[in-house]
Amino acid sequence: MNTETSCLFCKIAAREIPADVVRASDRLLAFRDTNPQAPTHILIIPKEHIGSIAEIEERHGGLLADVAQAATQLARAEGIDQSGWRLVTNVGPDAGQSVFHLHFHLLGGRGMGWPPG
Ligand code: 5GP
Ligand code: ZN
Repeated sequence: MNTETSCLFCKIAAREIPADVVRASDRLLAFRDTNPQAPTHILIIPKEHIGSIAEIEERHGGLLADVAQAATQLARAEGIDQSGWRLVTNVGPDAGQSVFHLHFHLLGGRGMGWPPG
């Protein structure tokens, strides 16, 4: 699998750095954000190193379907499937991307504004 030795989320995926893991599969890991922005704030990452969603290729179609299903199932498990939730991925400086390993923020448990800040 494509991994980068200096990448924080590759290390979390390899279980070299601890995280509050809520779900794991062959291709994905989901764990709680250490600086939560909502009552539910879970990060869903591919185990494979992909820098951002801008690096997605045709072969990653199944992986993205897994992300959608994992987010939906986690939202149900968190009890926010009826109240609503948001799935966000940041790319680049204006969006505030700070970790350069693809991750989706699953947010919910409070009302959220639109447009995002
Ligand atoms: P970004 O700003 O790149 O979209 O999101 C990165 C997220 O990773 C932030 O919400 C930040 O709180 C979270 N984060 C950074 N370092 C760690 C860590 O070591 N463990 C966990 N669980 N989350 C982290
Ligand atoms: Zn990585």
